[in-house]
Amino acid sequence: MTRPEQLFPLFSGLETLTGIGPKAAKSFAALGIDRPKDLLFLLPHSGVDRSVKSSLRDVILPATVTVEVEVGSHFPPASRGRPYRVMVRDAKLEFTLVFFHAKGDYLQGLLPTGQRRIVSGRVELFDGIAQMAHPDHILRPEEAASLPSFEPVYPLTAGITQKMVAKGVAAALERAPDLAEWIDPPLMDRQEWPTWRAALLAVHAPKGPLDIAHTSLARQRLAYDELFAHQLTLSLARAALRRGKGLATTGTGALQARVLSDLPFPLTRAQTRSVSEIAADMAAPLRMNRLLQGDVGSGKTLVAFLSLLIAVEAGGQGVMMAPTELLARQHFDSLAPLARAADVRLELLTGRDKGGDRLAKLQDLAAGRIPLLVGTHAVFQKDVAFHDLRLAIVDEQHRFGVEQRMELGAKGQAVDVLVMTATPIPRSLALASYGDMDVSVLDEKPPGRLPIKTALVDSARMDEVVARLQRAVAEGRQAYWVCPLVEDSEVMDYASAEARFAALRAIFGEGVVGMVHCQLPPAEKDAAMARFASGQTKVLVATTVIEVGVNVPNASIMVIERAEIFGLAQLHQLRGRVGRGSAASTCLLMYQSPLSESGRRRLQVIRDTEDGFRIAEEDLTMRGAGDLIGTAQSGLPRFRIADLERQSALMAVAQSDARALLHNDPSLDSARGRAARMLLWLLDQDRAIRLLSVG
Ligand code: ADP
Ligand code: MG
Repeated sequence: MTRPEQLFPLFSGLETLTGIGPKAAKSFAALGIDRPKDLLFLLPHSGVDRSVKSSLRDVILPATVTVEVEVGSHFPPASRGRPYRVMVRDAKLEFTLVFFHAKGDYLQGLLPTGQRRIVSGRVELFDGIAQMAHPDHILRPEEAASLPSFEPVYPLTAGITQKMVAKGVAAALERAPDLAEWIDPPLMDRQEWPTWRAALLAVHAPKGPLDIAHTSLARQRLAYDELFAHQLTLSLARAALRRGKGLATTGTGALQARVLSDLPFPLTRAQTRSVSEIAADMAAPLRMNRLLQGDVGSGKTLVAFLSLLIAVEAGGQGVMMAPTELLARQHFDSLAPLARAADVRLELLTGRDKGGDRLAKLQDLAAGRIPLLVGTHAVFQKDVAFHDLRLAIVDEQHRFGVEQRMELGAKGQAVDVLVMTATPIPRSLALASYGDMDVSVLDEKPPGRLPIKTALVDSARMDEVVARLQRAVAEGRQAYWVCPLVEDSEVMDYASAEARFAALRAIFGEGVVGMVHCQLPPAEKDAAMARFASGQTKVLVATTVIEVGVNVPNASIMVIERAEIFGLAQLHQLRGRVGRGSAASTCLLMYQSPLSESGRRRLQVIRDTEDGFRIAEEDLTMRGAGDLIGTAQSGLPRFRIADLERQSALMAVAQSDARALLHNDPSLDSARGRAARMLLWLLDQDRAIRLLSVG
């Protein structure tokens, strides 16, 4: 599969454009612009009114003004370092043009005394005299038409001027071919969108501020192109996965019934719904690719276990994979009682299993004597063979992007895949990040949870916090103490945790305070966790390793140091570690003064709500989609034109449209399908096209 010839001129080097040399091309590269087509999608972020006024007198200064003037006398600089001045007069007013480091000859040629010129630029009052320093434009009256009355302003980088961009864009636009339409015609009509080429011409020739706004029809159309291409890619990935010869796995319900009758509580409606959605997917002969999304404490573990039982009831096996050793162990511990209730053997396999023990486990696994396995990525190592694997659950993989999921799907056999994430994300982002998956949402928490009391505390009051903690510990309560992450450096995290640990140990005494961080040998980490879980130690000093999944119901106090430097999602996850038991819980967010405006707002959001989805929405508005969770981490694509916050509705349309197109034309062979291929090429979604050719 190669790029269509029609697009070649848009994918050649930038310096092939008239007016762009190798040096300029290099400067453009710093903006991520390497090919003419990148210039097409570099949109002006604002515009300047260049309509010709009759006089400066009619304008409130300072302002950018365009007027016709008669050129008066020239005043070369009296001494070095002084500016060159040219007096000019518009219909009503005399003012000065000012030039620094200019050559007199050049200015004489540009502005001959006695002639008329149109000058355009920023005018300011200087000692009561209006002056325009270095006009943006100086034109003869007969050239007036070449100056648009509303001039687009592009984002720039060093070495590029507005004029260079404008020239480059104009040259690139000449290479933009008329392409067959890939958008659904009724949608085009309904939205009154222009064609692709017309949209490009329009966005680069705005007539006024409304044409710069994201609501302009041309911009909407180009944004939709981006979203649609992205959703096509996700849908193709989804289709490629589903095409995989899936296994139809139907449970008997027998094991589930045992567990359910053993539980002291009924499932929430959201849990019941999610389990049945998963069961339906597993029963279908297609491969499941589902996301289970639920806030901390929403009961994902139980849903996961009931799903695993379906695999076992059908005579197969299930595996759950966690990103870290610690979490794998934790899952094992929370699943173990459920497995006992179901009377099903559950084993743990991590990188720490060695030698004979490991071998024995592998043999039992291969023989089908271990129906349920929990582990780290060690469970996907080459020598690990299952007898009949039906379901793979991947926990906390929200840090994975579509690509990684594609790989996982390619590696595994025909197993059904369920990804669990505790990171609530707004719907528009969910569509963007997980559009290739079907989604089950646990949007309801088990009843009877006590709210967590959250307070903000200045770190200057550290002594009070420690004193309060001492009283709480004396009452038998347990606390997490989270140390700040320093510049994302694990080594520094570790240093700050060590220091806090030493300080608290000196106050609380030997044996009361424990510590976990990434640098500890695994066995020590486990031991520290185990001592805390059993209540032996009362305070656990930790870095963000406890962010996800860790479950110690008796811990009811969470202290977070330098909370202002954590992200909202992270704070929410951390706080979710308490409030899991029957006691009322407290979360203390310690901050260092002075707090920045955004830092204060973030902490207030956390203090005011425990609703993960609301927090995620706030995060989105405060930081913008690109920043949310960190783009690379969230697996969220970068869009050039589309604005996920403001155009979230378009994302949903793009998803259903992409799925519909692929449903009717799975290999994109119809006229519209071929046009859609062109779009994928145009927007660098070659990856998706490869998925097509496989099928
Ligand atoms: P998550 O993994 O989504 O953060 P967990 O699965 O760890 O949440 O569940 C949190 C706690 O809620 C656990 O102690 C679990 O036993 C309990 N729980 C789960 N489902 C229910 C339910 N339907 N009713 C009451 N408690 C529940
Ligand atoms: Mg959990």
